Amino acid sequence: MKLQGKAAIVTGASRGIGKEIALELARQGANVVVNYAGSEQRANEVVDEIKALGTEAFAIQCDVASSESVTDMVKAAIEKFGTIDILVNNAGITRDNLLMRMKEDEWDDVINTNLKGVFLCTKAVTRQMMKQRSGRIINISSIVGVSGNPGQANYVAAKAGVIGLTKTAAKELATRGITVNAVAPGFITTDMTDQLAEDVKEMMLKQIPLARFGEPSDIANVVTFLASEDSRYMTGQTLHIDGGMVMVM
Ligand code: NDP
Repeated sequence: MKLQGKAAIVTGASRGIGKEIALELARQGANVVVNYAGSEQRANEVVDEIKALGTEAFAIQCDVASSESVTDMVKAAIEKFGTIDILVNNAGITRDNLLMRMKEDEWDDVINTNLKGVFLCTKAVTRQMMKQRSGRIINISSIVGVSGNPGQANYVAAKAGVIGLTKTAAKELATRGITVNAVAPGFITTDMTDQLAEDVKEMMLKQIPLARFGEPSDIANVVTFLASEDSRYMTGQTLHIDGGMVMVM
């Protein structure tokens, strides 16, 4: 087990990719804070699954876009586990619309959750990780933050911002033994992608060289690598986990 006794916070861990990340970190021995926005029951079920694996976990409601709420979550994590070794900034939403029709609140909601949330959570764990002189921060971006995508100006701007934030945080925190990396998933089967029309899904499948949609475990395995000692000489990087969908030079 590569993460025995480590303490991790996973934002948006009640379902989808975040849930699988929380479970995989626990399988590797980590204790996990299971953050959620509204799905209390689902978050509690994740906690039960983690405890059945033999590590500690608790669920905590926290809107990652609220600094007060984020501060309380980090405080609760330190009180319970004593350290914060791993932060996975996974919580995210979509409010898709073409640019010319996009409402200001659709823009603000996505930027606040998907970009400001990453900033607030990262800032909130920094003091503790600097004191420990170690830490792993892993940000979930998206491949569309690299390629662009019609109908997702807000989401793409946020996810591209996450890549820039990852690089800057990596440079600022490197001397304190803290690494900051990102993963950029392609199309992963979750509630988020279930909303898409069948013809859109078919079109996307044709663009994936590995000829299948990703599963949450495809992301969780890479996040676990980034959370472990195996990735200790990597920082500021973005790994594309997309079945080859977007290849950039
Ligand atoms: P889901 O919609 O399945 O799950 C979203 C998770 O985020 C839920 O746990 C939800 O909590 C939580 N969440 C939403 N808003 C907030 C908030 N304000 N504060 C705290 N938690 C919040 O999404 P996915 O699992 O598909 O996506 C996870 C991440 O991966 C996102 O950042 C997404 O952008 C990214 N991604 C996903 C891709 C995909 O194909 N699925 C592709 C590329 C990137 P609750 O259940 O309580 O609502």
